[in-house]
Amino acid sequence: MKAVVFPGPEAIRVEQVEDPACGPDEVIVQVSRAGICGTDIHIYRNEYMSHFPLIPGHEFGGVVVEVGDQVKTGVKVGDRVAVDPNLYCGYCEFCRREQSNHCLNLGVVGVNRAGAFAEYVAAPARACYRVPDSLDDGQMAFIEPLACVVYGMKRLQVPPAEAVLLFGVGPIGLLLLQSLRHRGAGPLVVVDKQPDRLALAAQMGATVTLEAGPDLAERLRELQPHGFGVVVDATGVPAVIESAF
Ligand SMILES: [Zn+2]
Ligand SMILES: [Zn+2]
Repeated sequence: MKAVVFPGPEAIRVEQVEDPACGPDEVIVQVSRAGICGTDIHIYRNEYMSHFPLIPGHEFGGVVVEVGDQVKTGVKVGDRVAVDPNLYCGYCEFCRREQSNHCLNLGVVGVNRAGAFAEYVAAPARACYRVPDSLDDGQMAFIEPLACVVYGMKRLQVPPAEAVLLFGVGPIGLLLLQSLRHRGAGPLVVVDKQPDRLALAAQMGATVTLEAGPDLAERLRELQPHGFGVVVDATGVPAVIESAF
């Protein structure tokens, strides 16, 4: 099959590689669509836990073309599935503390095992979720980042009509913004450095959009003199997180 390969840091090639083999508890997914994530850029620059060579790609959906003989989840050939790329062991100290994001044996599709920037990818059947035909392939590739946002919303427990300040409206920030709007939160004040992103945020339901600048704190105080009920960071920049306090 054809695959995108990172042969080493800061290198990328399209190569002919072996088709993946299907393990007994795995399925083979023919990839329909895969998203490019900020994490892929970190992997490319060798700033992440990956080893080279690697086929990247962890945000994807596709069609099941082969099912291992020990699979018990009911997934069938022809099913459209989205795949949770984070494969927790379930038995290490952290998994047993329900902190599986710290799993000592974590496998991640497209990060430390072959990913979805390829025609086919192998994945454990337990990580596959059937997708209805009402979602198209592009939407299917967005399920993984949206799942991260849905989990964040579960942790946040934002009450209706809560004033929210959101830093960063890249893809994750825009998904958060729409989720907050659906939750009934508002006003939704968003801050970013890029005017085009702010324009998109305004279309997607931001009440106020502000370009980051030296007078930001003052402008925020004018809008919400007693502060915001919830502040969300979707930048990952430590200085921004510190400023939220
Ligand atoms: Zn990602
Ligand atoms: Zn574990």
